[in-house]
Amino acid sequence: MIPFNQPSRTGDEEKYVLDALRSQRISGEGQYAQKCHKWFQKHLGCHKALLTPSCTHALEMAALLINIQPGDEVIMPSYTFVSTANAFVLRGATIVFVDIRPDTMNMDEKLIELAITAKTKAIVPVHYAGVACEMELIMGIAEKNNLFVIEDAAQGMMATYKKRPLGTIGHLGAYSFHETKNYTSGGEGGLLIVNDERFVQRAEFIREKGTNRSQFFRGMLDKYSWVDIGSSYLPSDLQAAYLWAQLEHADEINIQRLRSWAAYYKELLPLQREGCITLPAIPDDIEYNGHMFYIKAATDHQQRELIAYLKVHDIQAVFHYIPLHSSVAGRKHGRFNGQDQFTTVESRRLVRLPMYYNISIEDIRTVTKTIYRFFDK
Ligand SMILES: *Cc1c(COP(=O)(O)O)cnc(C)c1O
Repeated sequence: MIPFNQPSRTGDEEKYVLDALRSQRISGEGQYAQKCHKWFQKHLGCHKALLTPSCTHALEMAALLINIQPGDEVIMPSYTFVSTANAFVLRGATIVFVDIRPDTMNMDEKLIELAITAKTKAIVPVHYAGVACEMELIMGIAEKNNLFVIEDAAQGMMATYKKRPLGTIGHLGAYSFHETKNYTSGGEGGLLIVNDERFVQRAEFIREKGTNRSQFFRGMLDKYSWVDIGSSYLPSDLQAAYLWAQLEHADEINIQRLRSWAAYYKELLPLQREGCITLPAIPDDIEYNGHMFYIKAATDHQQRELIAYLKVHDIQAVFHYIPLHSSVAGRKHGRFNGQDQFTTVESRRLVRLPMYYNISIEDIRTVTKTIYRFFDK
């Protein structure tokens, strides 16, 4: 069986996790968390990078930081993971869904302004598959309308837009280190990226249960106390240790994934030329991270048949998001602005192929050959 995903392993995870385990401090903000924070702050050039137990939690922190209140509206694509919406719905927001572009599956930046009302508080672009949204345009719209931008860059680590890392362009950004992402902190994990200096102090309060404990640990206070609302948004140092083993090999993992992505693309290009499938588009001005390789079948029927055919041939390929606006909770907490021209149709054509760190070229060829056979080519 060629699996859809395998968690990234570099070989140093056990060593660092054991080291953390044997240390005096395995709760949040241990030595590995501090190493990871430094790495991200240097690599991203952000004001603050804070590990969280998940990207879901980083998004929840973002909703708290921009003070989402009941009745506020937040604009995002419907073609995304539930956490993008849930984080804001938990604070009482209404979600306003906007259609996607069929080429990148990202929110169509040209439709955002049409969705803005007097209640709009934030725009949440999702960099689908790690391919950047049109951030320059989105930031311009936000500035003009006095809105916050929270980047859901869960899939976007190591990818850039006009040389800027994803997650560092909006006011706040979020990464995921879930086992299905390019880098993992041992199954679950995330990062909140603070790009607007105004949020730095409060982000630390919120993450430490609404206390100023982080200042206390830095020796700035002789005791800590309750200063704000908050929760427990710190991962254990075991997770940070696991992640550290991956950050040390960040480029290697990235280069390897890009190589696999390019191999898929090259093998499948003739099939696109024959009109059988559609390949993903990578716009100019961005650097990609090879997070995902998807193809699009002609119809939803063909999508299901292709997934079933690959399964019979021991290849695990999968569809992706059920558009949120068509789900039970999505209908309750959100509305779709304008026409759903592409979200539903395109999502039903999409098939994600096996893609992970160190997938072999032989396995990629087995997958592509099986796809050719499906199309009788
Ligand atoms: C994976 C993912 C999330 C959630 O990440 P967790 O770390 O599992 O909470 C959120 N948004 C997008 C776009 C994702 O791909």
